[in-house]
Amino acid sequence: MQAIDTLTPCPCGNDAGYARCCGPLHEGAVAPTAETLMRSRYSAYVLKREDYLLATWHPSTRPASLKLATQQPAPSWLGLDVKRHEEDGEHAMVEFIARLRYGGGKAQRMHEISRFVREQGRWYYLDGQFPES
Ligand SMILES: [Zn+2]
Repeated sequence: MQAIDTLTPCPCGNDAGYARCCGPLHEGAVAPTAETLMRSRYSAYVLKREDYLLATWHPSTRPASLKLATQQPAPSWLGLDVKRHEEDGEHAMVEFIARLRYGGGKAQRMHEISRFVREQGRWYYLDGQFPES
């Protein structure tokens, strides 16, 4: 099994690699922007880091569990494309397209506009909308 700290590029697509991109955030570093947090959350889905996904989810909208470990069919994440990132004080939005496939199914696109809020210097995922694409 490959150690995740050697992943290059990073699961979010950054050529710098996991150890210089999403890895430190998964270990507790503060995400400087909502886009950085969003990318690290995508990587957390790839790596099934449910603890990280819940920790970066705002308590007002956070589910009790994501059950990533037992999800069937399990998604294979194929790539991330961030389209837009806007910050306004303590609020931000990130529009992105993630590509994934469930089991042996065909690849599909997940187009989401996510909202984020910053509290005590940390960004949190609030919720998402799924526009027609
Ligand atoms: Zn990354």
